[in-house]
Amino acid sequence: MLAEAPHTAHELSALVRVSEKDVAAHLEHLARSLKRSGGWLEVEPARCRDCDYVFRDRRRLTRPSSCPRCRGEHLSAPVFHIREGS
Ligand SMILES: [Zn+2]
Repeated sequence: MLAEAPHTAHELSALVRVSEKDVAAHLEHLARSLKRSGGWLEVEPARCRDCDYVFRDRRRLTRPSSCPRCRGEHLSAPVFHIREGS
C-alpha cells in the first residue's frame, strides 16, 4: 500500500483501522524489516505552515503538536513512502 503512494499516518490509520499511535509503532517495525531487505522508509517530515519550520530531526513518527520555533499549531503531518531495495 505504501509502496504505491505516500500516505500520512492519519490516512494509514483510516485505511488499516488502527489508531495513529499504533500506525507509528507499525511503521517503526516496518522500517526495520525494510532495512534488512535493502529498502527504506522515506519520511517527508512534518512542517509548520506558519513559519515553514521543518521537523527534520524528529525521530518519532507521530505528528508533532506544536512548532518549537513559533508555537504555531498549523502543522502538516509527516508523509511516509516505502522504497523497496533492488
Ligand atoms: Zn512555526
